Amino acid sequence: MKRKIAIIGSGFSSLSAAAYLAQKNFEVHVFEKNQTLGGRARQLKKEGFTFDMGPSWYWMPDVFESFFNDFGKTTEDFYKLERLDPGYQVFFGEKETIPIGDSLEKIYAVFEKEEKGSSIKLARFISNAKENYDIAIKDLVYRPGLSPLELVTPTTIKKVKYFLSNIKKDVYKDFKSPKLRQILQFPVLFLGAKPANTPSFYNFMNYADFGLGTWHPEKGMYSIVSGMVSLAASLGVKFHTGAAVDQILVDPSGKAKGIQINGEKISADVVLSGADYHHSETLLDQKYRAYSEEYWDKKVFAPSSLLFYIGLDRKVKDVSHHNLFFDVDFDEHARVIYDDPAWPENPLFYANFPSASDPTMAPKGKEACFLLIPIAPGIEDSSEMREHHLNLVLERLEKLTQQTIKDHILFCESFCVEDFIKDYNSYKGNAYGLANTLLQTAFLRPKLKSKKVKDLYFTGQLTVPGPGVPPALISGKLVANLISKS
Ligand SMILES: Cc1cc2nc3c(=O)[nH]c(=O)nc-3n(C[C@H](O)[C@H](O)[C@H](O)COP(=O)(O)OP(=O)(O)OC[C@H]3O[C@@H](n4cnc5c(N)ncnc54)[C@H](O)[C@@H]3O)c2cc1C
Repeated sequence: MKRKIAIIGSGFSSLSAAAYLAQKNFEVHVFEKNQTLGGRARQLKKEGFTFDMGPSWYWMPDVFESFFNDFGKTTEDFYKLERLDPGYQVFFGEKETIPIGDSLEKIYAVFEKEEKGSSIKLARFISNAKENYDIAIKDLVYRPGLSPLELVTPTTIKKVKYFLSNIKKDVYKDFKSPKLRQILQFPVLFLGAKPANTPSFYNFMNYADFGLGTWHPEKGMYSIVSGMVSLAASLGVKFHTGAAVDQILVDPSGKAKGIQINGEKISADVVLSGADYHHSETLLDQKYRAYSEEYWDKKVFAPSSLLFYIGLDRKVKDVSHHNLFFDVDFDEHARVIYDDPAWPENPLFYANFPSASDPTMAPKGKEACFLLIPIAPGIEDSSEMREHHLNLVLERLEKLTQQTIKDHILFCESFCVEDFIKDYNSYKGNAYGLANTLLQTAFLRPKLKSKKVKDLYFTGQLTVPGPGVPPALISGKLVANLISKS
């Protein structure tokens, strides 16, 4: 008899776990509250435009490849990938940009132009980052966070100093140019914490950035979701959309026995939740929750975001697929995200124009524009604030790229804290989970296996290894291994 597993949510971690568990001969059912699959990686389609609503940076192509390889497939069986050149460009002033090209040679050249002698330091920095990448991504992240001893290996012992220093310190020591300092601190923002609070070891993100590059799956990030769903379905996984789980059922002996949706009880041998960890525990009686409200409140969460999906009636000049607007004070914006939560007065922002490189994302001659402003989780979200910040960043976008944009808007949809809570049951409306700080790494993160309920497991960006699409794929694999061994 196959063991039946009920998976809550259909984000990348759930899809990954579903595929691995089906491969291990489980009967797998995925229950997603929304009408579409893929969690935060949903797509918005409007008037011929396509927007990835969540993730847009395809980094660490090796992790995606390794996922599909585990099923005898490759990414090419599901989507076409292109390495972007430039991977992205960073705006520091009017028409003042630094492009990050698609090879280390190109990047060394722009560094050298900006600060004499910096290319040699960068080569050293990246070589160290690559070493850490090989240790972290090829080995450590595939450990389930059960014990601190998992992190103690002959290689990591030699790396202890990288856990005691931080990214900001290292970058400031080697590079003098404020622009280069900002560029080198950007990749760790994906981990959800300030560079000053992120251990140096995580400089492997700099290797992911400069060494492995920024890629784009044709038709957008949702192509990954479609690929994973079709792989999982081919292995027998059953998907149920519009299925909001309202309870995790536990028998008197403390064993998970199923889920409840709209009063209907659905039995299962094992329950796995890939929904936001905090929300998942609220589906249990108080006595079965392993983490208290105080526990979650003290944690460092990745930022939330104010997002805009904008259809423009013409092409935008001089922008790339990915554009970072770092023309304002980085530390001040970080302060109002992490230290004194408030709306930023002068926000850094990110502008994504997927149709700049992929014609499938917008009608011919038009441009799809996605804007992201990182903000503190849990801050007050109002239509006035959304409107105010839209005008603020559009004015900056127009000024820095020296062209009119506002007059060419066909439509503009926004998404913010309240939507993250309503659509994904996200704790305080966080956009991408629990940050990877020193005290929130590996075995110090919320556990994959429930400490209080037998046969109940968790996966996703609030548990190991952490935020981001590649870690979500790994999280699904880790939990599937734990479940199959139980
Ligand atoms: C705006 C934004 C930009 C990002 N940019 C990037 C990027 O460029 N690159 C990158 O790698 N990562 C990026 N990320 C992070 C990445 O998208 C996430 O880390 C990853 O998608 C999380 O996957 P997950 O499986 O943990 O959870 P989720 O995607 O949150 O999936 C959880 C699912 O559970 C469902 N659910 C919740 N409650 C219930 C319930 N009671 N019953 C049924 N279903 C339920 C939700 O609807 C959701 O579909 C970004 C995230 C956001 C939001």
